[in-house]
Amino acid sequence: MDIGKPAIEGGNPIRQTPLRFGVPFIGQEEIDAVVEVLKSGWITTGPKTQEFEEKFSRYVGARHAIAVTSCTDAMELSLVVAGIGAEDEVITSPMTFASTANVIIHRGATPVFVDIKPDTLNIDPAKIEKHITPRTKAIMPVHYAGQPCEMDEIEDIARLYGLYVIEDAAHAIGAEYKNKKIGSISDFTAFSFHVQKVITTAEGGMITTSNDDWAKELRNLRLHGMTKDAWIRISSSQVHYDVVYPGYKCNMTDIQSAMGLAQLEKLESFVNIRQKYAKIYDSAFQQMPEISTIKRIDNIRHSENMYVILLNLETIKINRDEFVQALQAENIYCAVHFKPVHLHSYYRETFGYKHGDYPNAERVFNRVITLPFSPKMTEDDVYDVIRAVQKIANYYKK
Ligand SMILES: *Cc1c(COP(=O)(O)O)cnc(C)c1O
Repeated sequence: MDIGKPAIEGGNPIRQTPLRFGVPFIGQEEIDAVVEVLKSGWITTGPKTQEFEEKFSRYVGARHAIAVTSCTDAMELSLVVAGIGAEDEVITSPMTFASTANVIIHRGATPVFVDIKPDTLNIDPAKIEKHITPRTKAIMPVHYAGQPCEMDEIEDIARLYGLYVIEDAAHAIGAEYKNKKIGSISDFTAFSFHVQKVITTAEGGMITTSNDDWAKELRNLRLHGMTKDAWIRISSSQVHYDVVYPGYKCNMTDIQSAMGLAQLEKLESFVNIRQKYAKIYDSAFQQMPEISTIKRIDNIRHSENMYVILLNLETIKINRDEFVQALQAENIYCAVHFKPVHLHSYYRETFGYKHGDYPNAERVFNRVITLPFSPKMTEDDVYDVIRAVQKIANYYKK
């Protein structure tokens, strides 16, 4: 098949206009909802946030949902409530955004990485036990790209050793494991509404838990450790409050919550479009010897937050970064998720990590590309991406 010379070699690009990465799907509903709050006289945490929390907790099937400014905060507050501190160890995946490990360090604890499975890119439950020590207090699984981790195995280990489970579900809004929604399974689940996630409030996060005491503590912690928030005090003239803990400041505003409510209405349709596009990508790339795709396990619903391909570097003459550059010249903008956390300089210098420590994560990092993938794209856009990947792989094949 000859589809021409890559644009980076002087050929014509697949697209005349850029296909940007991570463009959010914002409709008139979000715009109207935000404007309504702006005009209402109450723009910070208040009735919209309460409504967003109620609808979110009902959607995932957890007793409580607590809205915060990010998934990073959601994870940190969960660690605080779990009592994680100095001398403690927390097990997580190296194939994640650095904040999963950063928050463990903020608590004075130590992140302990366990390598991923090469086919799903999720933490390998079979490798967890040999990293457990008397100091281990929690496991933080990361649902990479929106495919749930093997939660039965992880929960079994946690029960056996008395560990908390705090899920990094930044990618997994709308995902299910064995017919249970992510958010309803473990002690704490942290979600993200960052612009590149399944639903967005520009920035934002949510913690779900079914423990009443923990939920109460989380509500306190997100706003200075105060017993009453501003909405309760002002809406009922309750002027007194008490500070029961030197808390944090990470409450979600009603402007964001109004946007979140409108996005939540569209969540099922977003995931359905993502699943349709993922099928189109899968069937094209599974024909190509230069590309591998991620294995999908049984008995789950994938939220399809990201679509990644892995380059079979043995079959092509260019490396991952050159492939990304060549796609950009075709007007297809991509990303890389993730540089394994242990390879970042702080982690190398502080903990002595080096190349070779987590071979599966490192092998993935050298080959992985996150393609443009959003319900904002048309089916034609999806086929442009496929044609561009085919063109580059074909031109540079060995
Ligand atoms: C985006 C992301 C986060 C952080 O989410 P924020 O809401 O930006 O704090 C954490 N973990 C993973 C895996 C992510 O992709």
